[in-house]
Amino acid sequence: GLRRRVVNVLVVGLDNSGKSSLLNFLRPREAQTDDRTPTVGFNVEHFSYNGLSFSAFDMSGQSRYRTLWGNYYRSTNGIIFVIDSSDKGRILIAREELQQLLSHPDISKRNIPILFFANKMDIRDALSDVGVSSALTLENIINKSWYICSSNALTGEGVVTGIEWLSSAIK
Ligand code: GDP
Repeated sequence: GLRRRVVNVLVVGLDNSGKSSLLNFLRPREAQTDDRTPTVGFNVEHFSYNGLSFSAFDMSGQSRYRTLWGNYYRSTNGIIFVIDSSDKGRILIAREELQQLLSHPDISKRNIPILFFANKMDIRDALSDVGVSSALTLENIINKSWYICSSNALTGEGVVTGIEWLSSAIK
């Protein structure tokens, strides 16, 4: 019979952007957790949903583990980049991390779809998806399909819309 292809999705972003909350929302009910323990060292979170295998880690504060990221970059079929839309003070740091990701040799030449979650849309004064897109200069991404949507990782608003786009962009 046909062997099912493993589809790897990398979930990245600065610490505190909402990656764990997002994955927690997708996780099956019985496996959900309220564990918000800050990550120490190079911490990678894994789980599967709808045939997608997710791996998530923080890009900030983990620079010394950068050389290990290549293993994840090489095997990934799609990327989710999570941004805290309410953290205007760190949006340029998020942009720098994104630039580094996009210029990585294992990413730059491949047509990997990227989904951006402009997360924490519920916080007053948070940037809109258009505002985040402009702050991250997403219009400069030329050789990859990408999509941005606002999300609330706590209620799940916007999450399924984004994941559905990514699933169809990968297949
Ligand atoms: P991570 O470090 O990227 O994994 O971020 P977490 O998932 O641990 O979230 C960091 C903090 O932001 C936690 O206190 C979450 O409850 C909160 N948070 C995450 N997503 C949202 C959101 O969409 N809205 C609001 N208001 N808070 C959020």
